[in-house]
Amino acid sequence: MRLIDADVLKPKILEYVKALERIKYCYGYDTFGKYYNGKKSAYLNVANLIDEAPTVEERKHGHWIEHPKHPIGDCSVCGERVPIYSGSKKYKSCPYCGAKMEGVNDG
Ligand SMILES: [Zn+2]
Repeated sequence: MRLIDADVLKPKILEYVKALERIKYCYGYDTFGKYYNGKKSAYLNVANLIDEAPTVEERKHGHWIEHPKHPIGDCSVCGERVPIYSGSKKYKSCPYCGAKMEGVNDG
């Protein structure tokens, strides 16, 4: 699955609808009116499909429950025990469930 941002995509589609309205105005309503109305209707249908598409679960947030003596930790979301360091940096997400870990600096 490829996650995309519907809030970015939908306004772009609606820009096409506005462009079609401008073009239609240039040609008048008889010649190409029906053609442009059909295109406009198709774009509006797509915009509605985007609104109706299911929202994938928001990314979970968790934190590492660190082991006191070893460079390992448990994910607070799924409970998997993993080596949480890459060099001196802590991993920013759980490799098992994908939870974004709080309190981990990007640097
Ligand atoms: Zn996890």
